[in-house]
Amino acid sequence: MPRLKKYKVPPDGSKPANNAARPVTLIPGDGVGPEVIGAAVAVVDATAVKIDWQHQFAGAAGVKRYGSPAPDQLLESLRKTGVALKGPLETQVGEGYRSINVYLRRELNLYANIRPTHSFPGVTTRFKNVDLVIVRENTEDLYSGIEHQVAPGVVESIKVITARASRRIARFAFEYARKNHRKSVAAIHKANIMKLSDGLFLKCARSVARDYSDIEYTEQIVDAACMRLVTEPTSFDMLLLENLYGDIVSDLCAGLVGGLGVVPGANYGERGAIFEAVHGTAPDIAGKNLANPIAAILSAAMMLDYIGHPREAERVRDAVTAVLKSGKMVTADLGGKASTADMTRAIIHAM
Ligand code: NAD
Repeated sequence: MPRLKKYKVPPDGSKPANNAARPVTLIPGDGVGPEVIGAAVAVVDATAVKIDWQHQFAGAAGVKRYGSPAPDQLLESLRKTGVALKGPLETQVGEGYRSINVYLRRELNLYANIRPTHSFPGVTTRFKNVDLVIVRENTEDLYSGIEHQVAPGVVESIKVITARASRRIARFAFEYARKNHRKSVAAIHKANIMKLSDGLFLKCARSVARDYSDIEYTEQIVDAACMRLVTEPTSFDMLLLENLYGDIVSDLCAGLVGGLGVVPGANYGERGAIFEAVHGTAPDIAGKNLANPIAAILSAAMMLDYIGHPREAERVRDAVTAVLKSGKMVTADLGGKASTADMTRAIIHAM
């Protein structure tokens, strides 16, 4: 049976001593979050890895419970555990509080967002053998949230790019490539227009690339890269992007392999990590037991790798592969009739 790829990540060295339960902050989140995170917890618990889940509220759930989208106890728990499994959080469009996802990533300095995106046996898509890793800078760019009104009818959003953050994410990408035996890193940019900001990002990527002569380094303008991704996605290996391009391009890439329901993600920093699916709260299917739990379950597998349980992570990925390959117990987004709970039970059974 084909195996899902195992992704090596920087170890946090926090494997618990004496087989004690590893504290992990659990943020079920909003919309479909509680359903898919519930599924991921059930699967992790079925591996018999001992986790001390520390349940916290954030986003709309945090506002409802504590009157704050980022309650103090949430940050306290994250600082203590250094690891979280997180569901999506609701952010209103054009109004309301600033994104708590962005806030958490910046607050904990989780500078590297990794989204492994590959084809799954049994999932019918336009392309076979897609195998991409998106490396997205997570702390700056237009997500710095610096916006102001210059005059009525005129607003400015400031794009912040620093050499320090650009070099740091480029180094993360090349180190990841080496550890995971990847062949090439493509820096995606718009430096033909944003000569200073994207120009600096590219300069930094180039200078880091010189230290990794074993990994091929290429560059492509983001619009042309999108066209190439939807026509010949297998011509890419790893993509290195600033924050905004990374956000957009990773959803595009999810569409190449079966949709947002199957792509996991992780946000890594020097001292911690938050694991979360690429998808959002999916309000159209929330509370209906229809959401695909795979993205959350594979994010939890990345968490198991991180906290020092690679064998259990592999068991989870193998079970996901088996269920997808058989095609019998899959959710509606993959053309099936199974509920979130049915699919989760099938994965646990396959383990
Ligand atoms: P979305 O990802 O929630 O949904 C887009 C489409 O994909 C919808 O049709 C949805 O039904 C489908 N989908 C998503 N996850 C699925 C799953 N697991 N199984 C089956 N189908 C799934 O994106 P959106 O509608 O643009 O955003 C909704 C909310 O989520 C917004 O408030 C947004 O800010 C938030 N959001 C949060 C995060 C996060 O917390 N990391 C990420 C993206 C969006």
